[in-house]
Amino acid sequence: MTVPELADKQTTNGLDHPKSNGVRSNSWQQPGTSAADFRSDTVTTPTHAMLQSVQNVLLDDAWNEGGMTAFERHLAQITGREAALFALSGVMGNQLAFRSHLTRHPMAVLCDKRSHALLFEAGGIASLTGALVQSVMPRNGLYLTLEDIKENVVLEERGDVFHCPTRLIHLENPLGGVTMPLDEVRRICQFARQHGIKVHIDGARLWESVAAGHCTLPEICAEADSVTMCFTKGLGAPVGSILVGSDDFIVHSKWIMKSIGGHVRQPGIVTCMAWAALDEAFGRDPNGSEAVLLRKSHENARRIAEVWEELGGQLVLPAQTNHVWVDLSAAGISPQEWVKQGEEWGLRLRGPRMIVHYQITDEALDRMTGFLRHILSDSRRHANGRIKNSQDFRNMYSSY
Ligand SMILES: *Cc1c(COP(=O)(O)O)cnc(C)c1O
Repeated sequence: MTVPELADKQTTNGLDHPKSNGVRSNSWQQPGTSAADFRSDTVTTPTHAMLQSVQNVLLDDAWNEGGMTAFERHLAQITGREAALFALSGVMGNQLAFRSHLTRHPMAVLCDKRSHALLFEAGGIASLTGALVQSVMPRNGLYLTLEDIKENVVLEERGDVFHCPTRLIHLENPLGGVTMPLDEVRRICQFARQHGIKVHIDGARLWESVAAGHCTLPEICAEADSVTMCFTKGLGAPVGSILVGSDDFIVHSKWIMKSIGGHVRQPGIVTCMAWAALDEAFGRDPNGSEAVLLRKSHENARRIAEVWEELGGQLVLPAQTNHVWVDLSAAGISPQEWVKQGEEWGLRLRGPRMIVHYQITDEALDRMTGFLRHILSDSRRHANGRIKNSQDFRNMYSSY
């Protein structure tokens, strides 16, 4: 097996990294450590535009609270909501929403069993709100439907003191790269409104759903009581998330944020980078028409998924946005072996989930194709036969 060397000069997908004459290059001028890193879309490096924005803020006004306020106004405007709150992380955005919405015991949060808020937020729902979690595995294996909700919700109006009433429905969109159809979100939110139940949407990667044409920002943000979105995933910023909702809700959330130390003294230095990242990867159009970089990364993800399937591999989830979930057990390869072999091909991998962000280079994509071909043409694995059962979601997610 021969592995091609990564060339010195790399090209990115649509991003302009100016080469400087005679100046030592760094990862801000050309693809850096993220060029062949498929582990996550959080591994991207800040771009030239982001760093330039910091320089401008520092020259202008290091305190620059005004910069954050303007950014929040911009987010409220493109999502069509009254107010927005900049939070240091997506976890903080979600947890502020839970804490702010959930004020009357007994109370329960109904959510997908695979939710980030349930699995990867250090049990914040329990410790910060004291709510019970009612977790549900969607019957279609992809996203929650109103039928799943109706089957598991506990309505307060039943007046049955034995049960814990659902006071908040928590949706994650997209989840594992799979988007919820807007119609389903609408059905669930309408049901929730009829029964006095709040809805929070964890839209850490909502930009991706919008870029892929599944909905517009205002369409989906109009449905829920609150929505969180991250700048640190596909958009590539180093810090920050946004929480949007009504004026009252945001005022309350701000109070909670202060009480847990989330208030930032000089926010301009981080919000400027988040704004530059948003403009660069998503653009200013709430319909996502300017999200060229995101759409390119979706195309690349789809291409990887197609190659895998053409070679006889199976997918665990459809590649609708920037995630590609490959069924490693069906291919007869352990996650450890997958990662190790990937390294030999100069690819950074982590379990069955690959994320294709916009800083992945064309060269890395070529390597990926070669790698997949190598993996699936291994005669030992064919001899072992393919295991038909897909891994359990919980196991898959444990390799995040
Ligand atoms: C990344 C992510 C978050 C936020 O996590 P952070 O660790 O704060 O970045 C929340 N929800 C989902 C679905 C995510 O992918």
